[in-house]
Amino acid sequence: MFAVQVARPQAILYAQTGAFDTQGTHNDKLSYTYTMPELPEVETVVRSLRAPLIGRTITGVWTDWPKVMRSPSPAEFAARLPGQTFRALNRRAKYIVCQLDHDVLAVHLKMTGRLYIWDNPEPPDRWVHFQLALDDGRYLCFSDARRFGRVYLAQDIEEIAPDLGPEPLDAAFTAAVLRQRLAGRHKAIKALLLDQSFIAGVGNIYADEALHAAGIHPLRPAHTLTDAEIARLHQAIRRALEQGIAHEGASINWYRKPDGERGESQDYLTVYGRDGQPCLTCGAPLVKIRVAQRGTHYCPICQPEP
Ligand SMILES: [Zn+2]
Repeated sequence: MFAVQVARPQAILYAQTGAFDTQGTHNDKLSYTYTMPELPEVETVVRSLRAPLIGRTITGVWTDWPKVMRSPSPAEFAARLPGQTFRALNRRAKYIVCQLDHDVLAVHLKMTGRLYIWDNPEPPDRWVHFQLALDDGRYLCFSDARRFGRVYLAQDIEEIAPDLGPEPLDAAFTAAVLRQRLAGRHKAIKALLLDQSFIAGVGNIYADEALHAAGIHPLRPAHTLTDAEIARLHQAIRRALEQGIAHEGASINWYRKPDGERGESQDYLTVYGRDGQPCLTCGAPLVKIRVAQRGTHYCPICQPEP
């Protein structure tokens, strides 16, 4: 069985500081539709963890849920991680990518994952199922109430996720690249934006925001977009993601920054979650439909039907 290298008491101790939000759902309306962290949320986690993690060496591995280690085996994690130092932290799509001395440690938060540093072995919430002890006496905690999140160990991220599309904020992702990728695609544009092999890191919130800003109906078949619409969409995707990062992510239900605080992106959304409320551009009531099994918000006036 997997070697437990970090002792942790069974007792659950909650945060002493008021800052750490130990409640899972914190929305005004209790929602069982979880919003998955997207590019801005994951990027915020990466940026916050760089300073405390880079240069730190792993001294131990703890889990009470071995399945969190997707690949390789938990025994491999326990054998390979201790002694390795965090050299860089980056993001690829919705993965947190930690470059260690000899491996890449990747974390996918899925729906309810939270990654943060804690000062002692008793984390502030009861959903920590994977923990790394660090050489400064602190702990990297992976908390995940729904347990869909996963950690991976590999030589590079491509080994873990070989089919990821381009990074939308990279300079190489131009409107021409988007036009090329849309050509011949008959799927609804919203469904395509959610496809991680089409474009990396965009999810339900920022897809709705970008389509509204670009004035494109979510059900438009992708290949029918005009060059002008593609240029608007390209700019709108980047702007929505950049604003999401600037506001440190959307804490609609589970997502929290590594310091336990909520991001503020949800306060600036123009369509997502605002069905029935007036469009901020034209005043018409916003509508919610389902596209690709996801709740999709749009304005029937600003985003005319195909
Ligand atoms: Zn409108």
